[in-house]
Amino acid sequence: MKPEIDLEQERKDILQAYKGLLRAAKHSKKDAETKKRIRKAFDVAVEAHSDVRRKSGEPYIFHPIAVARICGEEIGLGATSIVCALLHDTVEDTEITIDDIDRLFGKKEAKIIEGLTKISGVVDYSVSLQAENFKKVLLTLSEDVRVILIKLADRLHNMRTIGAMRRDKQLKIASETLFLYAPLAHRLGLHAIKSELEDLSLKCKEPEMFEEIQSKLKKNEEVRKRFIRQFSSPIKQTLEEKGIQFEIKGRSKSIYSIWNKMVKKEVPFEEVYDLFAIRIIIDNGELDEKASCWQVYSVVTDYYSPNIDRLRDWVSVPKANGYESLHTTVMSPTGKWVEVQIRTRRMDDIAEKGFAAHWKYKEGKGESQFDRWISQVRELLENQEGSALDLMDDFQLNLYSDEIFVFTPNGDMKNLPAGASALDFAFTVHTQVGERCLGAKVNSKLVPLSHTLRSGDQVEILTSQKQRPKEDWLNFVKTHRAKSAIKSSLKDDKREIAKEGKAILEKEFKRLKIAYENISLRELRKYYKVLSNLDLYYEIAQGEINLTHLKGFEVKKGVLKPKQTIRKRVTSYIGQRRTTTKDEDDVKKALVLGDNMEKLDYTLAPCCNPISGDEVFGFVTINDGIKIHKINCSNATQLMSNYAYRIIKAKWVNDKNVAFLAGIRITGIDDMGIVNNITQIISNELNVNMRSISFESDDGIFEGMVKLYVHDTVHLINLIANLKKVQGVTKVERKDS
Ligand code: MN
Repeated sequence: MKPEIDLEQERKDILQAYKGLLRAAKHSKKDAETKKRIRKAFDVAVEAHSDVRRKSGEPYIFHPIAVARICGEEIGLGATSIVCALLHDTVEDTEITIDDIDRLFGKKEAKIIEGLTKISGVVDYSVSLQAENFKKVLLTLSEDVRVILIKLADRLHNMRTIGAMRRDKQLKIASETLFLYAPLAHRLGLHAIKSELEDLSLKCKEPEMFEEIQSKLKKNEEVRKRFIRQFSSPIKQTLEEKGIQFEIKGRSKSIYSIWNKMVKKEVPFEEVYDLFAIRIIIDNGELDEKASCWQVYSVVTDYYSPNIDRLRDWVSVPKANGYESLHTTVMSPTGKWVEVQIRTRRMDDIAEKGFAAHWKYKEGKGESQFDRWISQVRELLENQEGSALDLMDDFQLNLYSDEIFVFTPNGDMKNLPAGASALDFAFTVHTQVGERCLGAKVNSKLVPLSHTLRSGDQVEILTSQKQRPKEDWLNFVKTHRAKSAIKSSLKDDKREIAKEGKAILEKEFKRLKIAYENISLRELRKYYKVLSNLDLYYEIAQGEINLTHLKGFEVKKGVLKPKQTIRKRVTSYIGQRRTTTKDEDDVKKALVLGDNMEKLDYTLAPCCNPISGDEVFGFVTINDGIKIHKINCSNATQLMSNYAYRIIKAKWVNDKNVAFLAGIRITGIDDMGIVNNITQIISNELNVNMRSISFESDDGIFEGMVKLYVHDTVHLINLIANLKKVQGVTKVERKDS
């Protein structure tokens, strides 16, 4: 029997939530007309969703109210957006049409809801978030950016309430959030929302890791606070004496960014956690914001000496997403570097709430940084030649990399990603300038094409009519524009050269009386490990494939066949005992797949090398059957968000007879006999079979890699714990690839 629902109480709760929304909508005008519009939207939404409940059991209407509240309170959007957020799911899920919205609310609202319905069709209901769809999402950006902002609020609320969803849905949504929404929020300058989306995704994907970092942060909170108090005390006093009104904040990094650093740099929490920034927000600096910031900078550096290399002036030249701030890193009395961010209240608003705050302050200042970014995105999409997936990669790269500003000889400013080379700059000027680029003069000094540019450089490009793009150019360009131009030009050249190769091959086939057929070509491609006929012809023309090697083939009925040779595989085992139960067939029985939990054929993905006990999923590849990946495999986020329809559930069957090959990395202090101790423990005491072992020693520090067979994660964790006890060993960790 279903539990009785108290409808009267629910009605009261809904009204309560609505009142909360009105209070939170502080940015919109409080006139009667506005209030009436919001009330009307609320009534329409309540009526439309009246019979529907969310997975959690609560009435659906709580969701649009919450989304509208995020729009008003956390993004700072006005009444139109609040109205649209209340209605955002009506056209998609209920009887209401775009025409109804137009009639009831107006043209503007109808356009935004239409945009929201369109992208929800693209990102929520399509089987996968493919690159083509992604393009459409970006294009809606240029129509009305409020569509994307409301969509972000929608996603944020869904992430906050993800607990009620099925586990596989959770993983898909969390991956997509990391892959698309967090970068978008970053690009739109919504710092707080970006961090929360990342943290919620991590919490969903790796709950244990998340909790561990969270609790460690909490433990260190007091120490951190005390440090901040002591550090800011002299600054505070001086600023007060100078009559500056300000607020000092000291915040630790987000859990996601700590985790990201730990994974990327392979360091423990302890080496990352105390990286935090102190922020000084100036409240009475409106008159001359730039001067106020530098005045505070001067006070800070009176007490602590700055690292000049780490000075970042985004006050004079803001970042493309609108970020303005002055950053410096100074040495604290305890010998720790501390980042100090200095900005005015207006700059802080923009940094936290991003683009929406821009509107508030813009007031007819002409084209904003954001407008410029939108036109860059459009340009990128229109000039797009390569595959849409390439575009997505480059786009993400461009999202996260910081920018530099360089100048043409005439003093025009160009915006490039950090790490861009002189050649990138040449392609930014014009594709033909890039293709003919010989070198450059940076600040009047001659440099090679590969020279990495720095902010403020003045660049002059030197060209030659004889120059053509080279393969190795791809190694030192960062921008999508340069990459795609070089690739397409190389392809043209390659086609020309391949023609010669094809002619050579045709002649050879004729001589050997081989029909010029696909079967023979396929054998050749397989033998020489090339992917396409174009590559085959090209390598023949370049002399990389020598056709006298056709001796390795024989001709049967006019078709080329490789001669049969028997190759022996040599594998060396170092462990004492070889194992009898570890052959692949056993591993094949260790998992069940799909909704019906069937025993299908699969292989374990080498990128993350899962073992029994790891949380895993199956991925249906095009040519290579089902591959099993760990949920936290670095490829998984991309696979899950792009090809959700090719993901299948996978579950381990508990079978102690099966063993998996796992890798362990051991580091420690080189000591007489330590290697011996380790191998003794593994093979005698713990009775585990080793496959291989290699140790390296450098200046008294040794690092060892051991490959061994284990039953499951519990077995492996025990083994690691035991190895940690060996004298001299400082670190033992699982190494998956
Ligand atoms: Mn929604």
